[in-house]
Amino acid sequence: MRADPIQRAIDEDLVRVLYAQNPIAFFTHWFSIVVLVSIYWVDMPYPDLFAACFGFYALANFASLGLWFCRHRWPDALTARSWIRLHALRGALLYSAPGLAVWFAFHSHQADLPILHTVMLVTLAAGVFMSNGFDVLNFSTGITFLLLPAIVLLFGSHTLDRTILAIVLAFFFCAINIYAMSYRKLFQRVVHARVDQQHLAESLAEQKQVAEEASLAKTRFFAAASHDLRQPLHAIGLLAASLNDASVTPQQHAKTADHIVRNVEALNQLFNQVLDLARMESGVTQVIRLHFRLGELFERVGNQYRPQAAAKGLALRIAPTTLVVYDDPVLLERVLSNLLSNAVRYTEEGAIWMGLRRAGRRTGGYIEVRDSGIGIPVEEQVRIFEEFYQVANPLRDARQGHGLGLPTVKRLVDLLGGELHLRSAPGRGSVFRFMVQAGEPGAIVASLRDTVASGPSAQGRRVLCIDDDPSILEGLTSLLGRWGCVARGVRDEALALQALHDGFVPDAVLCDYQLANHHTGAQVLSAVRDTLQRVGHEGAVMLLITGDMASSELATLATRGSPVLHKPVTPARLRRTLEMLWQQAELDGVRMAPAGETAGPAIDAQRKVS
Ligand code: ADP
Repeated sequence: MRADPIQRAIDEDLVRVLYAQNPIAFFTHWFSIVVLVSIYWVDMPYPDLFAACFGFYALANFASLGLWFCRHRWPDALTARSWIRLHALRGALLYSAPGLAVWFAFHSHQADLPILHTVMLVTLAAGVFMSNGFDVLNFSTGITFLLLPAIVLLFGSHTLDRTILAIVLAFFFCAINIYAMSYRKLFQRVVHARVDQQHLAESLAEQKQVAEEASLAKTRFFAAASHDLRQPLHAIGLLAASLNDASVTPQQHAKTADHIVRNVEALNQLFNQVLDLARMESGVTQVIRLHFRLGELFERVGNQYRPQAAAKGLALRIAPTTLVVYDDPVLLERVLSNLLSNAVRYTEEGAIWMGLRRAGRRTGGYIEVRDSGIGIPVEEQVRIFEEFYQVANPLRDARQGHGLGLPTVKRLVDLLGGELHLRSAPGRGSVFRFMVQAGEPGAIVASLRDTVASGPSAQGRRVLCIDDDPSILEGLTSLLGRWGCVARGVRDEALALQALHDGFVPDAVLCDYQLANHHTGAQVLSAVRDTLQRVGHEGAVMLLITGDMASSELATLATRGSPVLHKPVTPARLRRTLEMLWQQAELDGVRMAPAGETAGPAIDAQRKVS
């Protein structure tokens, strides 16, 4: 992956280094021309040919300067590789003249000319090594044209001193090539290191930017969250103070109490939304897929929003579908609920449509929620998925929501393995869509219609509650008592086991997760389950209640499908969870599922309740 950028960086550096030497080389070659012409001046063999050869040398030298000028003036006219190749061609032309000119030395009457010429060639070769040694193409063309003719001619002279000179020159030729090789390696390593350093600096800068953005998002999150949480708390404080006012009439008291209850509910709802998001972040939200009829879910969610839509004069159209999907009905219901609630909230006239589009698919299709509402500007279409972000609620009026719906929807759709798409324009409505997979009609376990409505009653059920906080224990047992349950409250494992030995056989065991003496509810429930199994009672449902979220044990329990409720737990939530667990236990009992299946509950208690 990195080879290409590094090769490019090497080429770019090579071009810079090769061309940087050209102006100096221009003067060096004039010096060489002057020296060579002067040593041949006294006895110049084949003067015409000699003049042509050195004329060519001078021309090539000017051409070399011209090439340098072009690259200096128009550096982007060619790629780095092409500039390197052109430079190699320049080297071939430029060095061929003094290299081949050694032939004149062997046709001169002066015996020392071959040696003098060779000395000049070695000097030029040192220059080639210094300026072109970094690149194999430039170095080998330059050095070959420069030295090879002299080596061949010296060997061909068949005299001892010239043969020795030929051997020395050949040795020099080999040595300089080997040096150039390590010179090139060093150069490549330096460029590598520089590119790596550059990459590191770039990725550090990117990471810094990501961290800064995350920190900004966190600041925004806390500012908005603390405002939205403070607001109802503040109202509750003021309202509670007025309850102490003796001059207030009983009617006003009742009204104030009603306001307090509504603010508590709002606070609770907000807490639950934030905790839901946190649960999804920490990975303890379970996805439990079932085969069910999508039409039933549409109907259920649609019925929830029909009154609100009708109150605003909007037509809410739910397209009938016979598709059976394989998905988590609870999570999907929350997605559709949030989308429909937004559609109703942000549409003033027209219609809302929810349905399935097959889009040419045999299996599954896209669920779409469309509205003819105010729409969302393109520049807001990313930020609306950030927690607490709202397009137009600068005063953070809680009646206009908190900006947690779409982040929840997005995370849920991700969790379900889909991708949420949005198409919207101001004044032209919005379309949210995501994909669902088809299921098998034969694998449907139960209709979504008969979940809670026909669930087993709490009346007469025995419930064992385990919590080390006496006030919670008291609150829980009295609540269960009001539902008609026979509740027994104990504060630890020993007392729980004692209750079982005393003959209290529970239909449900509710246990706090964090107990005294570093005991966890999971350990206590396991001990209770073992004891019940030993005495032949296996039907009790077990439910953990926790305020903890980052525990790895909880994450493991979540993946195993053990029911966990997260605090704060409302009475309605607890009741619904218990009824669902009892219903599931009855279903499992009736179906007499083979061993292993009974333990895999199709219910995620923490999510089955809204
Ligand atoms: P909330 O609706 O509670 O403000 P959301 O996270 O659900 O929070 O939505 C974030 C923002 O996205 C909203 O403030 C709203 O401006 C915009 N939005 C969401 N759904 C729609 C929609 N169907 N039509 C227009 N705007 C929408």
